[in-house]
Amino acid sequence: MIRKTIQYSKKIPEQALDGIPSSPGLAFGRAFIISPDNIIIPDEKIDESRIQEELNRFHGALHDLEAELNFILSRVSFESYNVQTIIQADLLIVKDDIFNNTVKNTILSGYSSESAIIKEFDKQKSFFNLTDDRTLRERAAEIDHIKERLLSFLRKRNIYYPVDEQSVVVAQSLTPADLVHFREAGIKGIITEVGGITSHASILARSFEIPAVIGVTNATEMIEHDSPLIIDGYYGKIFCNPKQKTIIEYQLRKSKEDLHRTELRDLVKLASKTIDGREIKLYANIDFMEDIETSIQVASEGIGLVRTENMIINLKHYPNEEEQYNWYCELADRIYPASVTIRVFDIGSDKYSEGILHHENNPALGLRGIRFLLSRPDIFETQIRAILRASRNKNIKMMIPMITHKSEADRAIQLIEKNKKELKAKHISFDEDISVGLMIETPAAALIADKLANIASFFSIGTNDLAQYTLAADRTNEMVSDIYNPLHPSVLQLIKLSVEAAQKYHLPVSICGELAGHAGATALLVGLGVDELSVSPSILLELKHRIRSINYKDSVRIAQAALQCTSYDEVRELLNIKN
Ligand code: PEP
Ligand code: MG
Repeated sequence: MIRKTIQYSKKIPEQALDGIPSSPGLAFGRAFIISPDNIIIPDEKIDESRIQEELNRFHGALHDLEAELNFILSRVSFESYNVQTIIQADLLIVKDDIFNNTVKNTILSGYSSESAIIKEFDKQKSFFNLTDDRTLRERAAEIDHIKERLLSFLRKRNIYYPVDEQSVVVAQSLTPADLVHFREAGIKGIITEVGGITSHASILARSFEIPAVIGVTNATEMIEHDSPLIIDGYYGKIFCNPKQKTIIEYQLRKSKEDLHRTELRDLVKLASKTIDGREIKLYANIDFMEDIETSIQVASEGIGLVRTENMIINLKHYPNEEEQYNWYCELADRIYPASVTIRVFDIGSDKYSEGILHHENNPALGLRGIRFLLSRPDIFETQIRAILRASRNKNIKMMIPMITHKSEADRAIQLIEKNKKELKAKHISFDEDISVGLMIETPAAALIADKLANIASFFSIGTNDLAQYTLAADRTNEMVSDIYNPLHPSVLQLIKLSVEAAQKYHLPVSICGELAGHAGATALLVGLGVDELSVSPSILLELKHRIRSINYKDSVRIAQAALQCTSYDEVRELLNIKN
């Protein structure tokens, strides 16, 4: 419902904008614009309690800039001596302790990192400008350049935005960390200019049940700060300064939506079976401990995916064994006797955390998931030990992300076995038969699925990444969102291969990517032979409703027909999907 505090103006005309629906729901609120320009507040004073956080942000930005400059240096060293010299000079500025200390002192005196950087870099620049030395005057331009880069690295970090329970955040793009902050502030909705439907920010918006519309061109310029907004996360529509007629229409829709949600609750006690009796187990994907509550309320079979890397993103450091152990025990205990599938850290790519990873030019193809963990056995083994210790009640499964080589799975299993032996020697109890599953989320893994099935306890198909890597389209980039499509026939063929391999070895196979919850894809996935679906708890009952209204035999026919399609458009037509 619209709160009384929102006054809709009769004088300002309604403006309708379109985007990509990214998280369902209807919301009424006021625009809170986050544009690069209003991030920088030259004289922003901060509370003493924020000083340490600001110092960390500054250090993180310096660290990132240094990594970036070193990377550029490694690329230009053979090409241009001049460029090399400029970058080396930039590096000297970035590493200049005396200068960095002046910025730190300004932060310590109560300014935000942005303000301190602007103040001290501008001072330094005017000093260079005043000298007669031409070389030093030229350096002034470089100072500006470094200032801009540092500010842009800071922008990617957690910045405190004074949003509230009326805010609809309008931004170019958002990070998962932003989303966490916004959920805590209780914002009403999200509008972004960029970002893909399966970017982690979108996934979080869905799991937080915050209506979101993405891919809205120039939203931060088109929408005025504080203007009243209606956002429709089902159809990707936005109304700025909505007229009375629109408000009434959407209020009506919102009441219907609330009613539908109440009706869905009746489904909680019913079985997840097709009309002709095939059972499809429904699990919940969770990112945060609080999501367990909803998973239990909707009576999920258990947790099908815990994205443990969110711990790193929240804490901004790798959690130690005890921190992890406590967290995993709490998860396992709260969901008991149901099971929880803990995925080991899938850090990397767009799941970036401040100061944790080094700079990579092409991170989606870089040191991510199991690749990173095998390069840091210290981090991996700490996590393995924490999971094993927490498995004492035998309701934890472990899952390995981003497998491309069988040797990665072999090595991961060896490390798990090694840690089991060590715990046994210390008489620490754990589940000796803990299931270790593999994620099938690269074409390589799907194509060797029969080799992987031999060593796995279960498969979980990560269609978000499987589509990204099969179609060579960045899942976070709205410019290729028409190419990125998990219903492309090539992705369906890979799902089929994975399911067949799992069936051959009698392994359970689930889908935990966003496709599992796609309203038009339920019959197709059931028909492809998937046993389990794992989705955000907020949509689990809708999914159960769909499963209960389909026939398995018909689904098999639909799946067979989809596998014959030559394009996404054909699949879409077959499945009756509107857009
Ligand atoms: C996937 O890739 O489909 C998946 C479930 O993992 P994530 O979205 O965390 O990469
Ligand atoms: Mg993935």
